[in-house]
Amino acid sequence: MTHQLPALPFAKESLEPYISAKTIEVHYEKHHQAYVNNLNKLIPGTEFENATLEEIIIKATGGIFNNGAQVWNHTFYWNCLTSNEKGAPDGELADALIRDFGSFDAFIEKFSNTAAGLFGSGWAWLVKKPDGKLDIIPESNAGNPIRNGLIPLLTCDVWEHAYYLDKQNRRPEYIRDFWKIVDWNKVSSRL
Ligand code: MN
Repeated sequence: MTHQLPALPFAKESLEPYISAKTIEVHYEKHHQAYVNNLNKLIPGTEFENATLEEIIIKATGGIFNNGAQVWNHTFYWNCLTSNEKGAPDGELADALIRDFGSFDAFIEKFSNTAAGLFGSGWAWLVKKPDGKLDIIPESNAGNPIRNGLIPLLTCDVWEHAYYLDKQNRRPEYIRDFWKIVDWNKVSSRL
């Protein structure tokens, strides 16, 4: 099976001024594409030749895990973002965030602190646990919560390539702007 780079769900300039078209271009066309290409080079002749990305995330190690998880993580990240910002969720997701974090603002603060405090490269995730409760999980490098039986609802890429062109070392500023472009409708649909 040959893995493909999925289309972006938005126009690359549409997230400005929060994320520049140049950042999206390099992040998507260079970084995301490279993970796809690397994965396609690594899997022939292995047990993962015909595996789905989810199977690779759960079972693979080394380069196949790293590249397969990064393909999945980036596609998911793009599908957390929108130019049609809504500001905050409503309905069942809003209720669940208040139930498990105390308030929407407390959730934003905890997720932002997790993303800002993650040492090195990685991803901050909002997940649903098997008991239905929501949690915030930091994952280093290509880490993905599916591997631990959790359901991803939202992610923020905190690898430097996600923000360095726009914000240089100012990761907290990137995270602050991230909230302006979260697609809460898609996050809600994953609950
Ligand atoms: Mn990335």
